[in-house]
Amino acid sequence: MWGTSANKGRGAPPAAAAAPRASIKMLIVDDSNIVRRRIERSQQFENLVVVGTAANGVEALEIFAKTEPDVVTMDLTMPMMDGIECIGRMVAKRPSVRILVISALADKATAVEAMERGANGFLNKPFTDRQLNEAIDELIR
Ligand SMILES: [Mg+2]
Repeated sequence: MWGTSANKGRGAPPAAAAAPRASIKMLIVDDSNIVRRRIERSQQFENLVVVGTAANGVEALEIFAKTEPDVVTMDLTMPMMDGIECIGRMVAKRPSVRILVISALADKATAVEAMERGANGFLNKPFTDRQLNEAIDELIR
């Protein structure tokens, strides 16, 4: 209870201190099941909820429309529809979406093209847990 000795000297009542942070919805897109699971397990944000995973751009757009994620991790080399095209389509549908490209394609031209399509960050494979979490942190900050 507010005003009890346990709260002496604290600036805010317990209800405010315990207010939940709004959850952030994340979609993980990669044609490798291993990479998808790695991203899902390694991310360390309490308020981040993985609302879907997709193995190619076509599947990603379907899940994107259904789940309306705030954040997307996007592979580039995938069957059916690659990440570059998928980024453009997602951004066209919802410009506010934040997209982190996670790809083994390390050349500058690819990164520039992804950014031009609307991506917000680029992480090269292979990546450490720390690199992944720093990249996500920059994306949702
Ligand atoms: Mg791939």
